[in-house]
Amino acid sequence: MAAIGEILRTMDYGPAPEANDHVRAWLDAHSAGFTHFIDGDFTAPGEAWFEVSDPAQATPLARVAQGSDADVDRAVSAARRAHPAWSALPGHARARYLYAIARHVQKHERFLAVLESVDNGKPIRESRDIDIPLVARHFTHHAGWAELIAGEFPGARSVGVCAAIIPWNFPLLMLAWKIAPALAAGNTVVLKPAEFTPLSALAFADICRQIGLPPGVVNIVCGDGSTGAALAAHPGVDKVAFTGSTEVGRAIRRATAGSGKKLSLELGGKSPFIVFDDADLDSAVEGVVDAIWFNQGEVCCAGSRLLLHEGIAERFIAKLKARMEKLRVGDPLDKSTDIGAIVAPVQLTRIRELVEQGRREGGIVWCPAAPLPAAGWFYPPTLITGIAPASTVAEVEIFGPVAVTLTFRTPTEAVALANNTRYGLAASIWSENINLALDVAAGVKAGVVWLNATNLFDAAAGFGGFKESGFGREGGREGIAEYLTSAAHAGSPSGVATGAAPSRLSGIPAGGVAELPGDGTLPPIDRTAKLYIGGKQARPDSGYSFTVTGTSGAVLGAAPLGNRKDIRNAVEAAHKAANWSAASGHNRAQVLYYIAENLAARSAELTERLRAAGGAADAAAHEVHRAIERTFRYAAWADKFDGRIHSTKSRHVTLALREPWGVMGIVCPDEAPLLAFVSLVMPALAMGNRVIAVPSQAMPFAATDLYQIFDTSDVPGGAINIVTGERDALGLVLAEHDDIAALWYHGGAIGPIEAASAGNLKATWAVCPGDADWYADAPGTDAAHLERATQIKNVWIPYGA
Ligand code: NDP
Repeated sequence: MAAIGEILRTMDYGPAPEANDHVRAWLDAHSAGFTHFIDGDFTAPGEAWFEVSDPAQATPLARVAQGSDADVDRAVSAARRAHPAWSALPGHARARYLYAIARHVQKHERFLAVLESVDNGKPIRESRDIDIPLVARHFTHHAGWAELIAGEFPGARSVGVCAAIIPWNFPLLMLAWKIAPALAAGNTVVLKPAEFTPLSALAFADICRQIGLPPGVVNIVCGDGSTGAALAAHPGVDKVAFTGSTEVGRAIRRATAGSGKKLSLELGGKSPFIVFDDADLDSAVEGVVDAIWFNQGEVCCAGSRLLLHEGIAERFIAKLKARMEKLRVGDPLDKSTDIGAIVAPVQLTRIRELVEQGRREGGIVWCPAAPLPAAGWFYPPTLITGIAPASTVAEVEIFGPVAVTLTFRTPTEAVALANNTRYGLAASIWSENINLALDVAAGVKAGVVWLNATNLFDAAAGFGGFKESGFGREGGREGIAEYLTSAAHAGSPSGVATGAAPSRLSGIPAGGVAELPGDGTLPPIDRTAKLYIGGKQARPDSGYSFTVTGTSGAVLGAAPLGNRKDIRNAVEAAHKAANWSAASGHNRAQVLYYIAENLAARSAELTERLRAAGGAADAAAHEVHRAIERTFRYAAWADKFDGRIHSTKSRHVTLALREPWGVMGIVCPDEAPLLAFVSLVMPALAMGNRVIAVPSQAMPFAATDLYQIFDTSDVPGGAINIVTGERDALGLVLAEHDDIAALWYHGGAIGPIEAASAGNLKATWAVCPGDADWYADAPGTDAAHLERATQIKNVWIPYGA
């Protein structure tokens, strides 16, 4: 025992172990093995098992059934059977169940915290104070949503059977993030926990039984990646919610492409932690501890890239190293442990290999001198300095207690470095200058930004990423929307659009028009449409056009046959038009009003063009009239589609800011060629996106006739780009393009589009509520389009004392 004087001198903690007898007794009671939870009961033992280990001891904890395709099938069938009754329950009844779950989690909080620490290796301080309280918070919060959904999302309904596939880093919390909103919205669930950490999900299954949750509402099938793959691919699943690696997220995108399943992906990150020279450095050092050594750095939003202002970098690193010397690595059940064990040997090997790679690439690897525990899978807190922005360890997610440092000189350089990643999950910004911090927050491409703070989570705030960190949000209003659909939407964000255009492509030379209707005396003046790229009319790279005929078969003219290169040029032009995204809502509104005004001035001519394509005169006039009206309406929305302020932790305001995707692709349907074009392009523009639109293949002139209108309406060059041609082929090019952030597709089958979008994991939608009838103004249609034209960035700002 250390003398009191010695303790006061070193301020070292003695051991403070948390008892694990309840968990041990529970594990002993299941020594024969844990089985799946299907249709309200645990299944009979099967043949295949896998072993679950205690990472801190490197000893076996339990054996767990390996889910087969048949198990997945039974679980999905049970969820399907339970769905009608569960979704038909009044919101208040579902709220009671969710509330009961929350209360039971609280009743068993210490048991669950110990179980989580034993299974995952995370310090009890974190599972006790962060994971489990947040689990209860999520169920309570979503009990509230169950009550409010009917009023807050009129016309919305549950999606159906949701497959939840979760990782091992926050096993019970990730379960809560998915099951709570799914159930609140009236869905039923089949969850596959991670192979390394299934135990808390099985304890949760028991809670479901204890509170009398109807059988089949929650089902849990254990197993490895193959079980997850079978679940994601099961035809009885309506939505897949996945958290895990970008690679597996991409595989799931491909596997679900074209199936009509709704999908949300919360993937990896390499989040920047930016420290300016005016930051409170001691607070920022504590921030780094929370950013990268919380949960052993096995955190998708870990602040793993320290971007330090050149002027303070040396001082900051010295302070950080001093703090690292004091971090305690060891027994997760010791209440004074800061860093626990790494979940599995394979993860430990991955961390070691990446750090060695960093060393080979010239990085200076530093870690404190304290020895690691002899048994178990541990890795010390590690700092890598002296690396280049392009080195492996600066780019690849290490998913362990390893931070890398880079320096910058100016805020602009800090933002450029922060965004120099394929990920976009989170960012943490440290400065005492609120103007600077907010300016940088606006520039960083990330789904969550914390100011002078890090790793804050709450059920009321959405969490999720930009770019290859995935799409969709978990938590808050935007999270619950992921588990809802509308009748018009028919079950998925990617429902198959109908109405594939007849192929009218022929290889006639550009500018050549087979036949034009004349007035008998003089031939009409040729109006060969071109592409519209960067605010200029452009000839197609192919040098070919295609003949456009009206419904009567009369030739209307020729439109350019755009190809991959034209799309590439359009994307480049759209990227150069970044000022459109930076313009105020008011400015964008003015431009849209101007477009509407000019549409009105040209309405007779536009009507005539539509009529010539084969429509009745009345119908053509109606379409133009509607297009003008709709442009006015989206102009009105441009400065009014606000974000929200979430009520999260005390002393914070969390701003849920709507940001444009940036560059979007929009593939238009054939029907209502002018109105559909306007109904899709205007909301995207109103929210600040730059657009590459592929207009109706059957009647591209409805869009190409608008060039002069755009030119005279102050639309900046590159904000709207139009590439005509073979719609589905161009759609694929858009889906494959890495510099397009989101795609609305109203072409043929969505499957190939979704599969092609897996490259940069862009968000794709086939239909939006209200798109079924372009002429109608169904309630919620505007909001549905505007929502899909934006993504949410949650900015956490300290507020009040
Ligand atoms: P995975 O993405 O492989 O695992 C996440 C979940 O998906 C697990 O339940 C896993 O099952 C399951 N799964 C695996 N393959 C498939 C598939 N083809 N179809 C459907 N489900 C599947 O992450 P890992 O656990 O393998 O970790 C690897 C790396 O991923 C880490 O080093 C880290 O970089 C990153 N990661 C990121 C996380 C995040 O929160 N963003 C969380 C975890 C990891 P099983 O556990 O049986 O393999």
